[in-house]
Amino acid sequence: MAFTTLGLAAPIIEGVRAMGYSEPTPIQLRAIPLILSGQDVIGSAQTGTGKTAAFALPILSKLGAHAAAGPRVLVLEPTRELAAQVETSFRDLSRFTDLRVAVVYGGVGYGEQTDQLRRGLDVLVATPGRLLDHMQRGAARLDRVEYLVLDEADRMLDMGFLPDVKRIVERVPKARQTCLFSATVPPDIASLIKWAMNQPEVVEIGSRRSPAETVKHVIYPVEDEQKSDLLLSLLDQMNWESVIVFCRTRHRADRIGTFLRKHDHAVAILHSDRTQREREDALKGFRDGRFDVLVATDIAARGLDVADVSHVINYDVPTHPEDYVHRIGRTGRANTTGDAFTLMCVADRRHVADIERFIGHRIEQVVLDGFAYEKSVLFTESGKPRPTKKILGVFNRSGRTFRPRRR
Ligand code: AMP
Repeated sequence: MAFTTLGLAAPIIEGVRAMGYSEPTPIQLRAIPLILSGQDVIGSAQTGTGKTAAFALPILSKLGAHAAAGPRVLVLEPTRELAAQVETSFRDLSRFTDLRVAVVYGGVGYGEQTDQLRRGLDVLVATPGRLLDHMQRGAARLDRVEYLVLDEADRMLDMGFLPDVKRIVERVPKARQTCLFSATVPPDIASLIKWAMNQPEVVEIGSRRSPAETVKHVIYPVEDEQKSDLLLSLLDQMNWESVIVFCRTRHRADRIGTFLRKHDHAVAILHSDRTQREREDALKGFRDGRFDVLVATDIAARGLDVADVSHVINYDVPTHPEDYVHRIGRTGRANTTGDAFTLMCVADRRHVADIERFIGHRIEQVVLDGFAYEKSVLFTESGKPRPTKKILGVFNRSGRTFRPRRR
């Protein structure tokens, strides 16, 4: 199936060609004709499936050429990184048109954004908070919007943006086409859908809960004290090109990043305590190959288009099962394969159990050859990972003490 059969405008097909896409991905095949026909669409495909182009291509096709009054398209994104990335996709795909694309997000000055908004544009990509600021200052008007995209809606909910999103949607004309993308549909998103959308068609690619299908994932049980050594040994032994290491907190990300640098890895650190410049530099350096390890907290987990990550390592088990799916979605993007490793200490076992329930199957537990493991309840006498269900007992809050249950 080729892009030319989908009904996209000629200059947009040229843009697709210039990007080097040869065939539409499954979500593009399903969503593009629906969006072209004017239908509201809910997409529940995982990130990494080509979902940005799935909405950008038909919308750009329908816009045609630059119009004086705009923006006609508003795309809301939960984070600045995502907003910047989606803007780049719109620009790339529309490069053979005269359409104008701009992005607004917080953490940087207003000047240049205000200038762009004043100059007139067709497509505006924005994070909710900064867009509301511009609206209050009279710099952004939404009364010409014909196409509204609510991307990563579940993440917007997690980040507490839903009230902002609603305030923005109220200012967009009712006669519009709305697309919403969300990996999961919790009740608050379901009610947003009811309120903001008009008889939407659902496009679901694969099971909503299953992580990107090409990713192989395994768990390395390890005592907390040995985690950093195991991480180092993993990096020494595995055949990787680029890896994202996810940590629970900013502090831990800084600590692990510094630790890996001491051991001669080229490391970038990405979390919300860093300035916008530092964050952009980290991402750019990682994309360019200046850094081969990116240590990040969950803000980086969603949707970031860091292409060709060969491995994801969860230094900490995510406490929300959804985050596991999103984190490991960083590898295996658009049909390439990747590996996802999760370090699990005793206290993490219940989170792993939650994740396994969420994704609907168990994750294989393995040990790293040649690593000097401390004796632990995580392993059997012969050093094999102890099947989780056979570990009996209770743990104190730090997870250190193992107290067998009396039978
Ligand atoms: P997304 O899910 O939108 O974040 O896209 C993930 C990655 O897949 C991005 O790097 C896109 O440039 C790429 N991509 C999107 N559509 C295609 C396609 N049809 N063929 C190959 N790569 C694609």
